[in-house]
Amino acid sequence: AVVTRFAPSPTGYLHIGGARTALFNLLFARHHGGKFLLRIEDTDRARSTESAIAAILDGMRWLGLDWDGDEVYQFSRAARHAEVAQEMLANGHAYKCFATAEELEAMRAEQRANKQPLRYDGRWRDRDASEAPESAPFVVRLKAPRQGSVTIQDQVQGAVTVNNSELDDMVLLRSDGTPTYMLAVVVDDHDMGVTHVIRGDDHLNNAFRQLPIYRAMGWEEPTYAHIPLIHGADGAKLSKRHGALGVDAYRDELGLLPEAVSNYLLRLGWGHGDDEIISREQAVEWFDLAGVGKSPSRFDLKKLENLNGHYIRSTDDSRLAELVAKRLPFQLSEAQSTLLEAAMPSLKPRAANLNEIADGAMFLFRTRPLDMDEGARALLEGDALALLAAVHTALDAAGSWDTEALEAAVRTVADDAGVKLGAVAQPLRAALVGRRTSPGIFDVLALLGREESLARIADQMT
Ligand code: GLU
Repeated sequence: AVVTRFAPSPTGYLHIGGARTALFNLLFARHHGGKFLLRIEDTDRARSTESAIAAILDGMRWLGLDWDGDEVYQFSRAARHAEVAQEMLANGHAYKCFATAEELEAMRAEQRANKQPLRYDGRWRDRDASEAPESAPFVVRLKAPRQGSVTIQDQVQGAVTVNNSELDDMVLLRSDGTPTYMLAVVVDDHDMGVTHVIRGDDHLNNAFRQLPIYRAMGWEEPTYAHIPLIHGADGAKLSKRHGALGVDAYRDELGLLPEAVSNYLLRLGWGHGDDEIISREQAVEWFDLAGVGKSPSRFDLKKLENLNGHYIRSTDDSRLAELVAKRLPFQLSEAQSTLLEAAMPSLKPRAANLNEIADGAMFLFRTRPLDMDEGARALLEGDALALLAAVHTALDAAGSWDTEALEAAVRTVADDAGVKLGAVAQPLRAALVGRRTSPGIFDVLALLGREESLARIADQMT
């Protein structure tokens, strides 16, 4: 059965590239009825933080990237990693290297001077540990094959070959007994039963260092798929400069829906014909590694926001109102919550994100007399006041307070005064909302209700 994993290092937020890697792993596993695991690679003790771990778990849950079972913490498995290094020593696939730091520095200085690649020269490969001074510190190195080459049949990159002469005998266990990253990843992937390693192509070179460990241990090798990184709109690798934010910022600051972010990430580097809107269920059904492109995709916030607008429009009003309520600077009463939900049909058609809806909904909750912004105040000067008074009278006389009756009343005022509807609607909007923009004016009247509407208008007439 298929087993995939996402293996973030908790040294910062869950960024958009990581989230996409996790999504691809999840979809691939679900498509094949397999498992999707999570491993927190927290072996870098200096840079790993609790808050980064929390941000990763939180971001994954928000995006619906639900992993199977408990997450695995790599650091907690250090003893197991060391045990494997010992096994490799015992079976002759690794050896102790007693070279001192000064010695290795001298070796590299010479390689630099000769313009040679900087590589460990294997000086302890064929020496016996008994030749070392007593209780001298040592590292454990892989006895890597020197002849031939390794070819990886990568599911995205195709066949990639590296000559073994280009690889040196890398360190598996440091002199303090801690495992290196290369060893830890392989041991964990093996022990977790990972069959498919799907990750960023910045790890492709690592695969050539990791495969020899599988072979030395006689373990079944995983299938690799190295996916291209995400680039900014300018084609350079995505960085903070491009607005590369943590996933939490897409939720909290940009006000995006998780379905939209997830759909966008899916389309970033994977395609299913021209389909733009793809549900999670469809994605599970359709996802395959063959559909992952080989060239980097470009991150485009505008496209993401357009997609978000789509998801906003197809989200039901009660969930949307709940999400919007959380973004308002005050707690809503029950009546206000009901009002907010009732306003969703007028607010959501034009909104690209939840912030815009929250902003647009503010008029519902303002207290009288409204504080007017400059643009609104300008609409309430001169002739406008007479029109406002006429509209007040007409609305006051309106038999029922539905949008049709309201529209008829306002139109009659405009017709009687010989002006366009806008000449009446604009000051009316200013009086009701305190801004120049709002949802349709008849929706605004209907939402505010008779009493509040008439009072807001009257406030501006004196
Ligand atoms: N921990 C690595 C990273 O965050 C990923 C390792 C892997 O996927 O093999 O870049």
